[in-house]
Amino acid sequence: MLPSCKQVAEQASENIDTPLTGMKWFKMKIHLLICAFCRRYNEQMILSSETVKSLGEKETSSNAIRQQVAECYHETHNKH
Ligand SMILES: [Zn+2]
Repeated sequence: MLPSCKQVAEQASENIDTPLTGMKWFKMKIHLLICAFCRRYNEQMILSSETVKSLGEKETSSNAIRQQVAECYHETHNKH
């Protein structure tokens, strides 16, 4: 069974702190291949974390980013 979009969204944010490994990573990758929404969400998540890192704003809570991206994600889903 592949993870649901909700699970992939959670894993995408987990992946920022602790890169996923093994089957979890593999299943997420498969899901990303077939699901454009999660793919975009995941890219957005990586991009946001990289932006924060490059700015050196370590104090910026990663939770704040997650929330921001999650909101964007839900909007996209609702419009669909
Ligand atoms: Zn999905």
